[in-house]
Amino acid sequence: MTQPNGLYIHIPFCIKRCSYCDFNSSVYQADTASRYIAALGKELGGVKDFPYKTVYIGGGTPTAMSKKELDELLSAISSSLNTRRIREYTVEVNPGTINARKAALLKERGVNRISLGIQSFSEKGLRLLGRIHSRRDSLDAFSTLREGGFNNLSIDLIFGWPGQSLKDWEEDLSGALELDPEHISAYCLAVERGTPLARQIRSGRVLRPDEAAQLDMLKKAISFLTPARNGYTHYEISNFAKKGRRCLHNITYWKNLSYMGIGAGAVSYLDGRRTSNVKDILRYIARIEAGKSPKTFGERLAPRRRAAETLMMALRMTSGIKEEDFTRRTGFSLRELYGDVIDGLCESGLISMKRQRLRLTRKGLFVADSVMMEFI
Ligand code: SF4
Repeated sequence: MTQPNGLYIHIPFCIKRCSYCDFNSSVYQADTASRYIAALGKELGGVKDFPYKTVYIGGGTPTAMSKKELDELLSAISSSLNTRRIREYTVEVNPGTINARKAALLKERGVNRISLGIQSFSEKGLRLLGRIHSRRDSLDAFSTLREGGFNNLSIDLIFGWPGQSLKDWEEDLSGALELDPEHISAYCLAVERGTPLARQIRSGRVLRPDEAAQLDMLKKAISFLTPARNGYTHYEISNFAKKGRRCLHNITYWKNLSYMGIGAGAVSYLDGRRTSNVKDILRYIARIEAGKSPKTFGERLAPRRRAAETLMMALRMTSGIKEEDFTRRTGFSLRELYGDVIDGLCESGLISMKRQRLRLTRKGLFVADSVMMEFI
């Protein structure tokens, strides 16, 4: 069996739900959190023997938990995994949920990368997105983490929210550059069904995001962050990194390599078999407490589908994929499977094939979703 590269640990708690969010999380409750951590500890026991290169604790908001709960979780990880062998150990943090004592704890337990969910420096944007924090909280959180000794900080920004102008977005990008993080993720806002934001838009209280404006904002992010003076490489559709600071954990997903996920709703992918845990937090806890597997879904991907997913994920990265790597990973020849599609997309200028490397062109990058659909 292939060894999974990364371990994802899901913490499904937040202080309050943001208006646009459809992630698997609910409002933090101390009694559920403590049972959840105990359940995670048990699940961890079953997956601890792999030599993970990366660990990613995401959510939700892991730092919505108390310092004591966080300590219990990190201690369980330290005693189960050889954290010295882990190259990248990330925790997601939200402004308003971190202080010097929690930052010191993360550092002490071997966490070496933080992903900070700033999303916007605009108070208007933060209100619309339903975030719990202010601009000031974001600046304070960033300096608390820097002062806590973290030299690998990533910040998340969201663009294209209703009413956001290109100037607002430029101000967010400038605000990010002022902090000088090692990594920036810039995600386009998606209006997900069933979220408060979707309801506000449907009722006419909030404007629908403008897709053309969103495209201009992605272009702006690339032109703003990547000049030599700013030092960021655009390495994935939504991600920018300084030298040596690309997110190794996410690269596992984009290379369609094996990974393990634990916690409510977490997905694992091993040797072409995808499984996922029950999503509901209380049902997850109940299954683990009853000694049952939390997995409620599993599928083995047919080789062709695995190959298609490998290609679509690889095209998210600006480096694309080499023909020989595609063959090594999937057992198929890129040309045999997709020769006609590749020729057509090359002719339209949406992808390029140079020196046996297939990648999106700049034009293709801005319509990436529809390009990728061609490979299904
Ligand atoms: S903090 Fe993140 S996970 Fe929690 S509600 Fe907001 S967007 Fe969703």
